[in-house]
Amino acid sequence: MKRWMKNSGIAAAAMVVAVSLTACGGSKASSGVEASTPVKAAETAAAATKAPSKDGKKIVIGLSMDTLQEERWQKDRDIFVEEAKKLGAEVNVQSANSDDAKQISQAENLISQGVNVLVVIPHNADASAAIVEKAHAAGIKVLSYDRLITNSDLDIYLSFDNEKVGEMQAKAIVEKAPKGKYVLIEGADTDNNAHLFQKGQMNILDPLVKKGDIQIVFNQWSKDWNPAAALANMENALTANKNQIDAVVAANDGTAGGAIQALTAQGLAGKIPVSGQDAELAAAQRIVEGTQTMTVYKPIKKLATKAAEIAIKMAKGEDTGADKKVNNKKMDVPSILLEPIAVNKDNIDSTVIADGFQKKEDVYKNVKK
Ligand code: BGC
Repeated sequence: MKRWMKNSGIAAAAMVVAVSLTACGGSKASSGVEASTPVKAAETAAAATKAPSKDGKKIVIGLSMDTLQEERWQKDRDIFVEEAKKLGAEVNVQSANSDDAKQISQAENLISQGVNVLVVIPHNADASAAIVEKAHAAGIKVLSYDRLITNSDLDIYLSFDNEKVGEMQAKAIVEKAPKGKYVLIEGADTDNNAHLFQKGQMNILDPLVKKGDIQIVFNQWSKDWNPAAALANMENALTANKNQIDAVVAANDGTAGGAIQALTAQGLAGKIPVSGQDAELAAAQRIVEGTQTMTVYKPIKKLATKAAEIAIKMAKGEDTGADKKVNNKKMDVPSILLEPIAVNKDNIDSTVIADGFQKKEDVYKNVKK
């Protein structure tokens, strides 16, 4: 099965879970996903008041997710829900399947249910400003998780140093291909992170372009981070350059998977360096097998755990400890940025595997060591 097909299978499966949960009355699955409809609002509120907490009411966090397409988001969701529960709060999770209107209406439902705080992973950086406005009108604070909501009076942004992610990607590829023709397979134009990754990459590549060492022959967004869009981009890049390319900077592991599929079809996989991000299992396998050069590991456990802690603090009106400011085109947003880690076949064991992010037997499944 093609990787991107596998991905959509996962997304479809996640949707089925959500739908069946709605059908059986908003109960919680073991994964921690809770389906909700406006009809279930009273039930959620009633359940919340039953549980004891500081002020006598259990905190309810609304988690509005863009997608569950990439493997990482399921980890984000599961760890976030688990940590929030540990701290005595309840989480109502919604996933919008890359649909702006759906994400906004799901968030409106969470707001009308009276969640105490809203955590948003926006599909569209600009469009989701409407969510912040609506939440604030109802007195609910908003945490922007992993991706920045732009043009809004956002309360807090919690992510990784995404410009650095882009720098790590380009650096690793330049090490393998210091000269030649570069293809840039970027993420979703609607995601602020995709722009930060590209900015970071250009910090490294620009001076080399000016020097005449490298030439960027293709540079395109991949709609909704879809690996199928990345595959099509890579095919176009290969055709336009008669397969004469030297390096591929792909913005994440999903897009790297699409790009590598196109390279494989031309007998070029493993011959041209390709970057990635997320330390997905499929990418970790490609790294040890030699078709992908690197990935960027972002310890999701740290991010999701911290986000749950902060969301609860926000609900209680406590200080969040944000130590940075990131401008979102409207204001300097109080922010916390965690450190990403560049991973290749030499340090995958001591990072991704040592952390328990991926299992050694899974990563090396197709490799004799
Ligand atoms: C995240 C990446 C992810 C991508 C696609 C980005 O905003 O930072 O980790 O691969 O979205 O979901």
